[in-house]
Amino acid sequence: MTTYHDEVELEDFEYDEDDGLYYYPCPCGDQFQISREELVAGEDEATCPSCSLVVKVIYDVDKFKEKYGEVIEEKDLDDFEYDEDAEVYSYPCSCSDRYLAKKSDILVGKTEAKCSSCDLSVKLTYDKDSLCTKFEEVVKISEKKTIKQHL
Ligand SMILES: [Zn+2]
Ligand SMILES: [Zn+2]
Repeated sequence: MTTYHDEVELEDFEYDEDDGLYYYPCPCGDQFQISREELVAGEDEATCPSCSLVVKVIYDVDKFKEKYGEVIEEKDLDDFEYDEDAEVYSYPCSCSDRYLAKKSDILVGKTEAKCSSCDLSVKLTYDKDSLCTKFEEVVKISEKKTIKQHL
């Protein structure tokens, strides 16, 4: 268990753009510090490099993530592989699993493909209108086939 010297609102820290660190004065004369990346990751302990004191940073993780979280990588849907049987688009993830996006989700405007093994996701870029037309045509063709079979 960490014993905090104090609890400090993130607003009371000073942010240094150059090194991406938030600073707050420590009683030892040095400064507590915590990086923006650590805060995005949900870390809330700012440490002082000169002494053993630790302060707990009070902030809204979700809001912070929204503001400074990693920009999601964009991938063109054309780069995805389409599995006709499962009606799922997939793309290799860095974790060796794959990002997945259901065709039905994409048709209703979803633009996120999630990896099922890790928390990563990518943003899909595609032309919704042309995609819908494409699938409508496919549906029409298969409908025609069915009609023919009935004749
Ligand atoms: Zn200190
Ligand atoms: Zn993954």
